[in-house]
Amino acid sequence: MAIIVGISGCLLGQQVRFDGGHKRFKFADEELSDYFEFKPVCPEVGIGMTIPRPVIRLLDNSIDIRLVDSKDNTLDYTDKMNAFTDNVLPSLETLCGYIVCAKSPSCGMERVKLYLDNGHSVPGGSVGIYTKRLMQKMPWLPIEEDGRLCDPVLRENFVFRVYALNDLYESIKGEDGITRNKLMNFHARYKLALMANHPATYRKLGQLLAKSHQWSDINAFFVEYRQLLMDGLKHRSNCKTNTNVLLHIQGYFKRNLDKQQKAELRDVIMRYREGNLPLIAPLTLINHHLSLNPNEYLSKQAYLAPYPEALKLRYSL
Ligand code: SF4
Repeated sequence: MAIIVGISGCLLGQQVRFDGGHKRFKFADEELSDYFEFKPVCPEVGIGMTIPRPVIRLLDNSIDIRLVDSKDNTLDYTDKMNAFTDNVLPSLETLCGYIVCAKSPSCGMERVKLYLDNGHSVPGGSVGIYTKRLMQKMPWLPIEEDGRLCDPVLRENFVFRVYALNDLYESIKGEDGITRNKLMNFHARYKLALMANHPATYRKLGQLLAKSHQWSDINAFFVEYRQLLMDGLKHRSNCKTNTNVLLHIQGYFKRNLDKQQKAELRDVIMRYREGNLPLIAPLTLINHHLSLNPNEYLSKQAYLAPYPEALKLRYSL
């Protein structure tokens, strides 16, 4: 099953911008499109605006933030945009992620220019009207901007979260619906990933699952679990947490590796910790040892193979 991901239409090369142009995002269009089924949306075209069209902007009118024509504040598109978003949301429920276009007053995710009545801009800006509502209605959804996805750490984290959410949805499929057993099995596979991304969430989710029998409504429990999981994975793993996880994994091989192999693995982990090797180096060695010394718990861990290797996302970490 394809992984369905929303995207601002202009990032896929659709000529839907105010000036009739596009903002094709090569990484999405050329690399991710081999793995994701993109669902392009242009909210401005969605509310009936023309191509080309007048420029719009965010205005803080001291009561709330409005989406208005940049030359005429009385031309207000906010209600139309909110109605469009609410209308399109049911068709977005199966999404596992969303890539939005930076700086757009409709699609931008952060630091979108926000103006005051006097023409001055507000430091820090705001969030595009469409994306803001999307984030409010689907707070678990991994959302990133094209610009931020040029950062290797943010890129890896986003793709990891998309695959994790898709994995969660796939794990609960079946005629019997969501069950505690399915969630326990899923969670067991994400223990090391959570230890690397956010140890506090690792502990919190463990406690939540231990008390899952106290929840009478499994669907409500699932919603809580999904939110905590996705919030936790949003934290980026770092050299320290990855090193802890790698050393933890090394412990599983203590009976399988000889003295020299153990020293070699430890040396590669330490060189990663010191910044002399990328994360992919110890992971490749670990996966090699795992193929020779199968371990049921480790081989299921999403941390070791979270997404297709061809994406090369861990080469720069
Ligand atoms: S940024 Fe959003 S609203 Fe603007 S052209 Fe792209 S998809 Fe359309």
